[in-house]
Amino acid sequence: HRLTKEEMKDRPNLVILGTGWASLCLLRKLYTDRYNVTIVSPRNYFLFTPLLPGTTTGTTESRSIMEPIRKYCRRSDADDVTFIEAECLQVDPVKKTVKCYDNSAVKGEVSEFELPYDQLVMGVGAESATFGIPGVKENACFLKEISDTRSIRDRMIDCFETAGYPGQPDAEIDRLLHFVIVGGGPTGVEFCAELNDFITNDVKKAFPKHLTDRCRVTLVEALPHILTVFDKNIIDHVEKKLQSSPTTKIWTQTAVTGVKEREMIVRDAEKKERSVPYGMLVWATGNAPRPVTQKLIQSIGPEVQNVRRGLVVDEYFRVKGADGIWAIGDCSVTPLAPTAQVASQQGRYLGRLFNDISEDLHQKKQGQMNDQEFTADLKKKPLFKYRHMGTLAYVGDKSAVFQIKDADNKTTTSEGLATFLLWRSAYLSKCLSIRNRVLVAFDWTKASIFGRDVSRG
Ligand code: FAD
Ligand code: NAD
Repeated sequence: HRLTKEEMKDRPNLVILGTGWASLCLLRKLYTDRYNVTIVSPRNYFLFTPLLPGTTTGTTESRSIMEPIRKYCRRSDADDVTFIEAECLQVDPVKKTVKCYDNSAVKGEVSEFELPYDQLVMGVGAESATFGIPGVKENACFLKEISDTRSIRDRMIDCFETAGYPGQPDAEIDRLLHFVIVGGGPTGVEFCAELNDFITNDVKKAFPKHLTDRCRVTLVEALPHILTVFDKNIIDHVEKKLQSSPTTKIWTQTAVTGVKEREMIVRDAEKKERSVPYGMLVWATGNAPRPVTQKLIQSIGPEVQNVRRGLVVDEYFRVKGADGIWAIGDCSVTPLAPTAQVASQQGRYLGRLFNDISEDLHQKKQGQMNDQEFTADLKKKPLFKYRHMGTLAYVGDKSAVFQIKDADNKTTTSEGLATFLLWRSAYLSKCLSIRNRVLVAFDWTKASIFGRDVSRG
């Protein structure tokens, strides 16, 4: 049922935080004429994260994996969506407001504001975990945002250019051309793969041999193996594959315990610490909750919010202990892994659920329905069902790995060129627009014909 003009005036205020996988997939399903929808996010675009590792080396261009959020906002007057580019600093679950701040370079007279909400969706994702290890924030590169891909590329090429200075001492060349990746999860492995491809296919052609011969890549993992989400045969295959590149070494059972400007401290399996010089260090050790998520967990209290990893939700993604707050994607805690696949399905589910319960939420706002009645109605709605499509990862040199478990927990795996083609076609089809699909396909073709650019900036 579509709301009448009269009903529209009193539509519930739905505030959505974030423009990532969870929030955008929700928005795309939502009948926006049933709510006053406001989206708040520090970036006015969606980022297709699976292709982020390749963007560091220019396999894909940054604009090809970005999708402007404004495209999804302007519909018609009735179902217009308001977007505000700001960072939410704090949620007040009692007053039902969000406090936001303009963290961009250009500031006007107003750079802080408060928004009231009836319903709030937390889709703020997670930040890179540093575990409080000294020097990581100050000295490491990360791989989470589009700006990170530029920093990594800039730093890497700069290392090569600086290593080529006349009179540069040998030890300094070795330091500058030592590229370290900390964390052997999918992010670290995919970045390592892209880096190997770039060095082998492009850097070696462009830079003098006496430099490229000395370039080393080290993947450091605290556990006995990398890619622990995969089956043993895949792990063995990937470890062999990455180390088959003469430049690459994997140090397992080695934890990085400190990062200085030019060296890192590692602790090996024998608990011995030593210092290792590096030119560029990329930190990819998984997720930690963002400050806004942490503050909300604290303000609700530890009786219900007792997991430090993120927001504890019920089976409908309602944040436990808070009225009118929902959480999806990497900022929520569920038994599922924090992946785009999960976040997008949760977003789509919640979008459909909001369509389904719009009248109830409308009545709740008008005081015509109490919490018990609302919950009783909600319990009649279908539950979220996750459909796992398998896990894919690029491992370099036109090879990828794939793994899927069936209903009987039987695992099927594949690897190699055919899986690489599957990886490419799967992610191409997952791009959210035809424009992005065309741009990504064009980038891949361009890189394979002309190679990747090795200039800085
Ligand atoms: P995000 O997509 O991170 O979106 C969070 C949004 O919230 C962003 O728009 C952000 O700007 C915004 N935000 C942040 N702080 C605030 C704030 N204070 N107020 C308001 N808004 C805020 N998963 C896969 O399934 N397959 C893959 O191949 C894959 N590859 C990956 C590769 C890399 C390099 C990385 C880093 C991740 C990859 N993932 C992959 C994981 C996947 O990206 C995440 O699980 C997914 O992005 C989670 O979606 P989300 O919406 O919860 O968070
Ligand atoms: P992760 O948590 O999967 O892996 C991080 C790794 O870093 C772990 O193996 C951990 O043991 C290691 N580590 C932690 N501290 C360390 C230290 N001090 N020294 C050395 N090693 C250390 O993190 P991720 O790879 O960033 O992935 C985050 C999420 O995103 C996961 O759910 C992942 O599945 C998803 N993701 C998926 C894909 C894909 O499907 N292709 C790609 C990227 C990310």
